[in-house]
Amino acid sequence: MAIKFLEQDQLAAFLGWLAEKALVVAPVKENGVVAFTPWVPGTEVELDVLLAKQSPKEFVFRQTETYLKFNYHMAPAAEVAEGEAAAGTTTGPDAPLEAPAEPAIPYETVDVESVVESPALTIFGLRPCDVRGFVQMDNVFGGYGGFYFDPLYNAKREVTTLLAVACRDPRSTCFCTAIGGSPAGTEGVDALFTQVEAGFTAEALTAKGETALEFSGFADAAEAQSGAADKLKESALARLDAPFTLAGIRDNLKANFEGQGWHELCMRCISCGTCTYVCPNCYCFSVNDELIESSGERYRVWDNCFNPLYTEETSGHNPRMEKSNRFRNRFSHKFWYYPDKYDSLLCSGCGRCVSHCPTRIDIREVLRVMGSPAGATAPAAGPGVSATTAPAAAEGKEA
Ligand code: SF4
Ligand code: SF4
Repeated sequence: MAIKFLEQDQLAAFLGWLAEKALVVAPVKENGVVAFTPWVPGTEVELDVLLAKQSPKEFVFRQTETYLKFNYHMAPAAEVAEGEAAAGTTTGPDAPLEAPAEPAIPYETVDVESVVESPALTIFGLRPCDVRGFVQMDNVFGGYGGFYFDPLYNAKREVTTLLAVACRDPRSTCFCTAIGGSPAGTEGVDALFTQVEAGFTAEALTAKGETALEFSGFADAAEAQSGAADKLKESALARLDAPFTLAGIRDNLKANFEGQGWHELCMRCISCGTCTYVCPNCYCFSVNDELIESSGERYRVWDNCFNPLYTEETSGHNPRMEKSNRFRNRFSHKFWYYPDKYDSLLCSGCGRCVSHCPTRIDIREVLRVMGSPAGATAPAAGPGVSATTAPAAAEGKEA
């Protein structure tokens, strides 16, 4: 599809047009913090700050989400008797030969109502690494390889359009290219916008993206405008390096499973879980019931694998009793267990966990050390090395 151009002063009109059809979410700065926020006319979109503090995953995979409502009650004897009496009056070949001899007794029953909310959603201004986060969660919740299909996530995902903006100025904590991504990556993106002088170039990559670019304010991009977009993408790409190598990382993590390095690296970790909450692809949740008298709700809520209760079993046994076990799990899950199952990584290199960890634990350092042979620091590799080229890791890992 042809490259389009949107004048900067048409952005609000474009978002307003989108908002007529869907909830529009965009990065907005408030009290010095950039967060993905429902957009309303008059809201200024913040694109100068590269990454919002949290990824926009919470709009599809909610932090807290009720999915069942229930109500316990006693079925009164009269009601039961009426129901049975009604059954007894059935005529035709299926009619019972005799009415029940004994009257029914009251019994406790429960009414259950499922809740699935999926309003149409358009996310504007997320980065290609944020979109990759959705692609990685799609594997888990979408039933990839015959695994679990999640109705809550998929109902929202199906009606979500992702309008990404290419990164102009990667941060020192970004490492998307080390794991096969790019500041202008298109995996999972419905339309890719690039900020150039006086506006944006825009390229539709899916049918949803084409629909979004039907807004009348778009014009065909001039050659100079699409040329400027290409230059900007190249310059952003050139500023990124690869801080660790993916080659053999799965085998090395396996070989270093009992390594002393895990104990040393996790010393500073305070198990706060921040790294998992800001991550665009961490997807663990727990399930709780809230009951007030006889009515209640069942909801799921984000969990995190640093939480000591995360794997505690009903018996009280906890297979990840030590902090180092939990710490090891996070990195092994992203670069070993998940790749084994989904033939992809569970990290998009956004660097949020690096910038927001209160104790400055750096995933790149962890992978350099524990993803290298015998826990040695490995030299950096070039971008585009595929983790999937590593031989499949053998048995013995944690679940
Ligand atoms: S953000 Fe840092 S301190 Fe907190 S759980 Fe993650 S690694 Fe540990
Ligand atoms: S693990 Fe860290 S760098 Fe990787 S996607 Fe999650 S927050 Fe970003």
